[in-house]
Amino acid sequence: MTHQSSFFGHVNRNFDRAAALTRHPPGILDQIKQVNSLIHFTFPLKRDSGDVEVVHAWRAEHSHHKLPTKGGIRYAMTVNEDEVMALAALMTYKCAIVNVPFGGAKGGVRIDATAYSTAELERITRRFTFELFKKNFIGPGLDVPAPDFGTGGREMAWIADTYATLAPHDIDGLGCVTAKPVAQGGIHGRIEATGRGVFYALREICSQTEEMRPVDLPVGLEGKRVVVQGLGNVGSHAARFLAEGGAVVVGVVEYEGALSAPDGLDVEALLAHRRDTGSVLGFPGATALEERDAGLELDCDILVPAALENAITMDNAPRIKARIIAEAANGPVASDASEYLHERGVLVVPDAFINAGGVTVSYFEWLKNLSHVRFGRMEKRFEERSARQILTAIENATGTVFSDNQLREYSRGPDEIDIVNSGLEETMIQSWHEIREVRRRHEDRIDLRTASMVAAIDKIAVAYEDRGIFP
Ligand code: NAD
Repeated sequence: MTHQSSFFGHVNRNFDRAAALTRHPPGILDQIKQVNSLIHFTFPLKRDSGDVEVVHAWRAEHSHHKLPTKGGIRYAMTVNEDEVMALAALMTYKCAIVNVPFGGAKGGVRIDATAYSTAELERITRRFTFELFKKNFIGPGLDVPAPDFGTGGREMAWIADTYATLAPHDIDGLGCVTAKPVAQGGIHGRIEATGRGVFYALREICSQTEEMRPVDLPVGLEGKRVVVQGLGNVGSHAARFLAEGGAVVVGVVEYEGALSAPDGLDVEALLAHRRDTGSVLGFPGATALEERDAGLELDCDILVPAALENAITMDNAPRIKARIIAEAANGPVASDASEYLHERGVLVVPDAFINAGGVTVSYFEWLKNLSHVRFGRMEKRFEERSARQILTAIENATGTVFSDNQLREYSRGPDEIDIVNSGLEETMIQSWHEIREVRRRHEDRIDLRTASMVAAIDKIAVAYEDRGIFP
């Protein structure tokens, strides 16, 4: 694989373009780009049949400028060293962009998760965790995995349990992995966080005249026609929240095929149909496309690629009709295609910003694990009482009488999910404005990918300079 065609090469190309716009010393820039630690290991798996096969696994810790490092674990046949390094680097930049105080990491196991039984997957996950532990590549203060393509809460629970077995005296042990089921130390709102973050970001972007004018779209999310590729964790929740927020999902692209429905799809019904039948195909009221990937080229306002990297390359970019591309997956638009689309006036909202909702809420989960208390537990009743007192004062002063329902609604103290969603919304909106500010400083001549990378580089370089590593 050449440097140019490799995924890590693409990430570094984006880095170099942004770095050239900053004034940090070349040595610091070079240091930021490097993968600080990388391991490749193999272990034997005993299949249910009794056969033994070798499993290949990787973990890359891209940047130790802040600890712990953080990043998902992917189970896919595409996993290799280059991909893991690229995704780890993206995590570093992503955390910096949304002000999450972690370095970036990524792990991968080269398996097709659908080809293994649950018991086999559990053996793989536990052995993977054990290997990470032996090599000092996991721990609440060291390196904290999360889910990615092909993994979810179940795998995270196995990881947490294996870590607890290996480090029973680590009182903060639950913070060794995030996106755990709530009953196993997880946090409400983590499952849907990435998709919800995509929604908050798009809603904010669409609310701004100066963003909508260049792409020739009316202001507001209401009525925007959306196509989503990949109805897994990220894509299904993004589709759901976008539809709830007034957008119209006019197409979906899944592994088994693509659907077009110019008048809009009922997202909940489609997800239920896929759960029941195992396929999006055959969903009433939608037309199946002859060629799956033609779904990416459907006429729409917003395209949300939420499957895997390189969904959009120079092969299909000229046929993309969307005016906004929200990179919900990691690296779905190759860097040359991204430049080309930007030239064509398409607003490409980069992955390192728009899919950062997951790591943001993972950060909240880690804080919860370290503080050993659920968000909202301490203040909920106090806030309810304070609000009641204000409502009573209003009643006394104005003669208004609130109904019991109104009193309950207006004085409700926050639950964990309210605090999580509020923190996520604040993070996505504030980070978006930081990126725009960088773009404005460059007189709107740079694309959002470059602007967000400049924002990330500035923050990471300061972290290195403040540490006195380069006096
Ligand atoms: P997932 O495994 O839950 O879902 C991926 C979906 O994409 C599956 O439904 C799969 O069938 C579909 N798919 C695979 N190949 C496809 C193709 N060629 N065309 C159409 N659909 C295809 O994974 P996920 O967690 O939703 O992750 C998706 C992407 O989002 C990945 O790039 C991941 O790195 C990124 N991401 C995930 C999170 C998270 O919190 N899960 C956070 C940030 C970024």
